[in-house]
Amino acid sequence: MKAVYITEHGGVDALTYGELPEPAVGANDVKVRVRACALNRLDVYTRAGARGTRIRFGGQPHVLGGDVAGDVAETGGEVMHIKAGDRVVVNPRITCNQCRFCLAGEEELCGSAGMLGSTLSGGYAEYVRAPAANVVPIPESLSYEQAASLPTVFLPCWTILIRRARLKAWETLLIPSASSGVGTAGIQVAKNVIGAKVITTTSSQEKAQKARELGADAVIDYTTEDVAERVKQITGGQGVDVVLDHVGADFYPAAIRSLAMGGRYGICGVTSGYRAELQMGLMFLRYHTVFGVFMGRKDDLRQIVELAGRGVIRGVIHETFALEDAAKAHETMEALNFFGKLVLTME
Ligand SMILES: [Zn+2]
Repeated sequence: MKAVYITEHGGVDALTYGELPEPAVGANDVKVRVRACALNRLDVYTRAGARGTRIRFGGQPHVLGGDVAGDVAETGGEVMHIKAGDRVVVNPRITCNQCRFCLAGEEELCGSAGMLGSTLSGGYAEYVRAPAANVVPIPESLSYEQAASLPTVFLPCWTILIRRARLKAWETLLIPSASSGVGTAGIQVAKNVIGAKVITTTSSQEKAQKARELGADAVIDYTTEDVAERVKQITGGQGVDVVLDHVGADFYPAAIRSLAMGGRYGICGVTSGYRAELQMGLMFLRYHTVFGVFMGRKDDLRQIVELAGRGVIRGVIHETFALEDAAKAHETMEALNFFGKLVLTME
């Protein structure tokens, strides 16, 4: 099969387009004919071997890409609810299904979990193997590109906003970087699913306009404005009830200052750096909760797909690329000049 793979960590030149053997399915697996694979920042880190993503290649090629949608091509002997020909999206977080967390339905806490495209062979290829438990059928109304844009950006937003922080319709959310995949997802979950007020940040007028079109009530230009001051003005001195932080160090000082009494601070990414100072006095006086989230549960993705199928939320796609142009897609992601998802497509 055609695939884009790496045999060592490096720059975009490390991405090789070539032939690899098709994956074999185990009894509980499905083989998916990939039609679309969305990029995530994790792909760039894994390519470079940065942020704890180093791979022991042992001479074996590694295929990047976690967020996959396509058609089921083959199913293992034990697979019951999925059949060949089904249109599906894949949950890239592969859990053990045996530990106490998995058995309790809290599989996001599984300590033996792998990730498609980073610890397991991923979706920059014609075919990918995944456990049948990890695929969700998608409705006709959802394109492959749309479906592939959902898992890695919507799962953490869903976990933070719906299940952990329990953002309410009468509350206010602060979420940074409206143009990033998580930014576009978080704005929509807060606005379209919950009905909350949304304050976001971005770096240009053009991006601010797109953020408003997505549902943001207020947009702060973090390059020219003081984020904490502006949040104070917008909320009449109250601050925000929930922060969905996916950028980390650069955003944290202003965001934690902006958190209202009883506020909840969910972290699901640290693209700008992973160290910050926690003012514990402020934390207990203001009844703050600070918590971390990586992805979500299998049922979260089913709920996300359901609402995407109804048009309540959508993957915001900046640009699509052919599989062989994966290097170009990585360059675009590293240039930071995009709004939404970059997606590889395969005929
Ligand atoms: Zn487990």
